[in-house]
Amino acid sequence: MSLKDHLIARIRQTGPLTIADYTTECMLHPELGYYTTRDPLGQLGDFVTAPEISQMFGELIGLCLAQSWLDQGSPRPFVLAELGPGRGTLMADILRATRAVPGFNEAAQITLLEVSPALRKIQREALQAYTATWIDTIADLPKQPLFLVANEFFDALPIRQFIRNGDAWNERLVGLNETTLKFGLGTQANQPALDERLTDTKDGDLVELCSAAIPVVSEVSDRISRFGGAALVIDYGDWRSLGDTFQALHSHQRVDPLASPGQADLTAHVDFEPLAQAAQTAGCRHTRLTPQGVFLERLGITARAQNLAASMRGKAHDEVIAAHRRLTHPQEMGNLFKVLGLYPAQSAPPPGLEP
Ligand code: SAH
Repeated sequence: MSLKDHLIARIRQTGPLTIADYTTECMLHPELGYYTTRDPLGQLGDFVTAPEISQMFGELIGLCLAQSWLDQGSPRPFVLAELGPGRGTLMADILRATRAVPGFNEAAQITLLEVSPALRKIQREALQAYTATWIDTIADLPKQPLFLVANEFFDALPIRQFIRNGDAWNERLVGLNETTLKFGLGTQANQPALDERLTDTKDGDLVELCSAAIPVVSEVSDRISRFGGAALVIDYGDWRSLGDTFQALHSHQRVDPLASPGQADLTAHVDFEPLAQAAQTAGCRHTRLTPQGVFLERLGITARAQNLAASMRGKAHDEVIAAHRRLTHPQEMGNLFKVLGLYPAQSAPPPGLEP
């Protein structure tokens, strides 16, 4: 049975699915799910992420976290964590760059939250020189100082969509038209979680809600506020979004999210405001939301690129220059991607970010 047939049978039995339920099935179905079955990253996969573009990204993230660790008195041991580590490239670059920081690697307890068995295997290979622990749920984060990065993790969490109808909302649902999946609308209902959005929307506007993100940020912020540490959340999105950002990518092309369940990567833009609020509720401070290009420039990516390029010739040289541009230029990833830092009330924000 294909995943599509399975979804059709499920909808026939129990009715239309929320977009979150549909996404969870598509991404995480134990046999047929997107993340269960494949490595989606890289030139041959469906999308390319910043750490796969250049080693410079992970190096600067590593040095940023290490500087925060030094600023907070080098607590040891501490947890060095990543959410959704993909191919393990970012963590490997972080660890390589921070070898130069005395004591950091020795004190780091590498902890990875990863749902995909296929990617866990690739991560294990990328990090075979180190001792790492994989956790299944965020509640398993050890109760210790925590220095964490999440790059393109939150965009992968399932969202729900609602269309405003007076002071209530109709949820956008995945239903059936004979044997094809199609979007429809649920019945009108109040949504207390969307009360704030009644102030900046009008009838017919579409808003998105990612409730799965909240417990993740709450646990991370709980560790940071109690034991010290810092988190860097990097993703595409904005403080608050308006409109449909649910999208599917297959082989670097945008496709209809309902066309081939389990075959395409499903994501949505990240709303950073609710993440910042959850962090505050858990006793953490958050930085200003900062464009990735600005953040990387402040951390010295231009000097790093010049330095790397100076030792290279031909294609390799040109690739470093192109990667610098791709990561930082406002018309490439520089503006679309944003960085939110979380840090303890009594400490300075991570380098490159402002309170
Ligand atoms: N951070 C990596 C990969 C981004 S892709 C990079 O920048 O290259 C998203 C990652 O999050 C993948 O590793 C995916 O398997 C993981 N992921 C997605 N949903 C998850 C969930 N609910 N729990 C844990 N990991 C998840």
